[in-house]
Amino acid sequence: MKSVNPATGEIIATHEELDAAGIEARLSRAAAGFARWRLSGLDERTALLARLADGFAAHRDELAAMATAEMGKTLKSALAEVDKCAALFRHLAQAGPDMLAPSSIPLAAGGRAETRWLPLGPVLAVMPWNFPYWQVARFLAPTILAGNVGLLKHASNVQGAAALIERMVKEAGAPAGVFQNLPIRSGPVGAIIADDRVAAVTLTGSEAAGQAVAEQAGRALKKVVLELGGSDPFIVMPSADLDDAVSKAVTARIQNTGQSCICGKRMIVHEAIHDDFRDRFVAAMAAVKAGDPLDPASDIGPLSSEEQRRTVQAQLWKMKAAGATLTGGEALAGPGAYMTAGVLEDVPVDGDLMAEEIFGPIAMLFRVTDIDDAIRVANAIPFGLGSSVWTRDVAEQERFVRDIAAGMTAINQVMASAPEAPFGGIKRSGHGRELGAAGLHAFMNQKTVLRA
Ligand code: NDP
Repeated sequence: MKSVNPATGEIIATHEELDAAGIEARLSRAAAGFARWRLSGLDERTALLARLADGFAAHRDELAAMATAEMGKTLKSALAEVDKCAALFRHLAQAGPDMLAPSSIPLAAGGRAETRWLPLGPVLAVMPWNFPYWQVARFLAPTILAGNVGLLKHASNVQGAAALIERMVKEAGAPAGVFQNLPIRSGPVGAIIADDRVAAVTLTGSEAAGQAVAEQAGRALKKVVLELGGSDPFIVMPSADLDDAVSKAVTARIQNTGQSCICGKRMIVHEAIHDDFRDRFVAAMAAVKAGDPLDPASDIGPLSSEEQRRTVQAQLWKMKAAGATLTGGEALAGPGAYMTAGVLEDVPVDGDLMAEEIFGPIAMLFRVTDIDDAIRVANAIPFGLGSSVWTRDVAEQERFVRDIAAGMTAINQVMASAPEAPFGGIKRSGHGRELGAAGLHAFMNQKTVLRA
C-alpha cells in the first residue's frame, strides 16, 4: 500500500500488506491478549492510558508530520489533532473509572439487581484517513479502559500513521495483543468480522463502507457502531452576531480542507440577513489561502489525494450543470491536489444534489424565509450527523434542538467533538455513539447480577 504526499504527488512510502497467515497470527494474539487484559485492574488500564497520553505529547511533532505528509492537512491542524488525542487518553484515565461504577437497583418483587460493566472482547476498527489519529483514538481509548483489545484496519493511504499508533501503544508498555495494526485493504475485513475471536466492529467512513461492514456484522450477529457521512446545516437567523457567524461559517467549512464529517456544509440563512451574509461569506471564502500545509500561513492544504480532488470537481461540475452557480472552487495547476475554497448557490433544495456530501472546501448557500423553512431545508437530506445554529433567541434555539433531525446541535458555535460528550448521528449518518460514557459503554457487556 502506497503513501502518496498529496502536496507533491510523490510516493513517500510503500507498506507491505499483511497476508492470510499474518492476519491469523494477529487474531490469535488478540484472543490471547484479551484473555489476559480482561482480568487487568482499572489502575493498570488507566496507567496505560496516561502513558499513552504522555507518548502522544512527547512525539507530537513526529506524529503530526506523518499526518501532513500522508493526507495533506496543515501541520498546525495535525498538531492540534495529536494534542486532542492526548487529551482524550488523559480524560478517560481520570474520569473513566467512575463511568464503570456498578449500580444497584431495588426490585419490587424483593432483592436487588446489580449491574456491572464487563469487556466484550477484541474490537475491529475500520477507520478513515481524514483524522488519522483522532478517529483511532476515539476507539482505542475506550477499548483499553473497557478491558477489550483492539484491531485496526486503517485507510490504505495512511498506513504510516497506523504504524506510528501501534508504536506509541507498544512504547507505552501495553501488554501483547492489546492493540494491533492490520495493514490490509478492505478485502479481508468480512472474514475478520465473521471470525469467532472478534466480538464487535466500529467503522468511520463513507456510506458504502458502512453498508458493507454493517451487512457483514449483521450476518455474524455482531454489534456495530457506524459513524458515516454528513452534510451538516449551518443555520443563521436574524438575531445572530453576523460578524461571528460569517467568520465561524468559514472556519466550519474549511477545517481539514473541508474533509470532515461534521463540517458545516450547507449554510442556511434567513432572508432578512441573507444578502449581507452572502457578500461577506463569499469574500471571506475567496480570501482562504490554499497552500503548502507546512506553511503556517496556509489556511488549507491540498485535498487528501488527486482522486479526492477529482471527486469534488466532478460534483461541482454536476451541480453547475443542474443550474447552481459557483464562486471559487478551482483546481490549481501544478503538482499537488490543491483547490481553492468556494461557494455554491442555487443548488436545488428538492432533489438528490443537495444531499451529496462534498468532502472539500465548498459551501452550499441557501436563502430561507423563516424558521420552519430553515428546518425544512436542514432536514431535507438523508444524513443527520451534526448541526450548528446561530441565533440569540432562546425559543428559536429550543426549536432547533427539538426539530433538527441530527445527532448533535451546536448553538452559536462550530460543531466539534469533545472527549466528554457523546458523538454520533442518526439517519444515514450511522448509529451508536463514540466518546463520553456512551462511547465507553458501546462495546461493553452490562451484566445484570441478581442477589437475594
Ligand atoms: P471509505 O469509506 O472508503 O474509507 C474508510 C475506511 O473504510 C477505510 O479504512 C477503507 O479502507 C474502508 N473500507 C472501504 N470500503 C470498505 C468495505 N467494503 N469493507 C470494509 N472496509 C472498507 O472512504 P474514502 O476514502 O473512499 O472516502 C470516500 C468518501 O467517504 C468521502 O468523500 C466522504 O464523503 C466519505 N468519508 C467520510 C468520513 C467521515 O469522517 N465520516 C471519512 C472518510 C470518508 P481502504 O482505504 O483500504 O479502502
